[in-house]
Amino acid sequence: MAVLEIRDLHVSVETDEGTTPILNGVTLTISSGETHAIMGPNGSGKSTLAATIAGHPKYTVTSGSITLDGEDVLEMAVDERARAGLFLAMQYPVEIPGVTVTNFLRTAKTAIDGEAPAIRTWTKDVKEGMKNLRMDEKFASRNVNEGFSGGEKKRHEILQLELLKPQIAILDETDSGLDVDALKVVSEGVNRAKESSELGVLLITHYTRILRYIKPEFVHVMVAGKVVEEGGPELADRLEAEGYEAYLPEGAPIE
Ligand code: ADP
Ligand code: MG
Ligand code: MG
Repeated sequence: MAVLEIRDLHVSVETDEGTTPILNGVTLTISSGETHAIMGPNGSGKSTLAATIAGHPKYTVTSGSITLDGEDVLEMAVDERARAGLFLAMQYPVEIPGVTVTNFLRTAKTAIDGEAPAIRTWTKDVKEGMKNLRMDEKFASRNVNEGFSGGEKKRHEILQLELLKPQIAILDETDSGLDVDALKVVSEGVNRAKESSELGVLLITHYTRILRYIKPEFVHVMVAGKVVEEGGPELADRLEAEGYEAYLPEGAPIE
């Protein structure tokens, strides 16, 4: 049982123009076995929240806290966060030249578990994971994210999720750029991970489409760096019908 607790989080980003506050007091608790969706218009700070949990150096926490089972996440280095059980799928994953998918997965698994996985079961798990996600076997020998299509990047993330078995996963716009078939395959992977290990999921999305496949119990609406409304799945249905306009100042530009 794991609990990720975000309390009154204020985050700023450093730019050429100076320090800009982006998150203005976000409070959120995600426990094992729960699925939370964070929804909101573009630019509301969703990715900033994900990057802050992951420990991206560009973002400065000016006040508030993030804890995992009471341990201070903000004091942890990025690799310690992963070892503690946090998993983050980025909206824009980076290329890792010269590192194949196979080696990357094995290195990550070894770092997180503190020991190398047993070769035979590991090879079998990787093969099975790739098959479930309808990935070509050749994919394993390609360099991480180099020339990956949008769909390949997302399926590679879910493959990591299934193999690394984190406690809490933060998935940032896992649905973006996926066609319906890929969206289904990716969602099935998340649901398998939820079933097999009581995974807690924080699903960040602009659109309600993915929520037809991955069912959240809790929906949080983020606008201008704050959670402005919370509810159950019915809130996502309402957003699907009405959009975010009601939350925005009159005449605000809509991306
Ligand atoms: P979302 O994921 O909800 O679309 P983001 O967290 O990406 O929102 O962005 C929130 C706001 O913070 C936007 O106005 C964005 O331009 C700004 N922002 C985020 N990251 C940076 C950055 N690295 N440099 C400058 N501005 C940033
Ligand atoms: Mg965005
Ligand atoms: Mg984003």
